[in-house]
Amino acid sequence: MPGHIIAVSCSCGFSGEGAPGFTLSGGREVMAYDAAAIDGELFVTITEAEATERGLPIIEDPALGRNPLEENYAGPWGGENCPRCQKATMTLALRGFWS
Ligand SMILES: [Zn+2]
Repeated sequence: MPGHIIAVSCSCGFSGEGAPGFTLSGGREVMAYDAAAIDGELFVTITEAEATERGLPIIEDPALGRNPLEENYAGPWGGENCPRCQKATMTLALRGFWS
């Protein structure tokens, strides 16, 4: 099922990549902050059900629902809260698609 590849980065040095979209079973894959991640990966892509169940903050896909012909369709979009420095200085950008 289709989804986006979203790159995140912050001036504090934090960076990562997410792959939000939809699963074969009709569920959603979302980007979320997982402060308890054992591998130190704070920025994860998991099912919406898991994020909700664990109470993890979800970062909405900024490209979802946008018209590809729209100006600035791929971002970058700023002002997201960074999981490392806790400031609203993280940017997201659309890097591609997965299916
Ligand atoms: Zn940061």
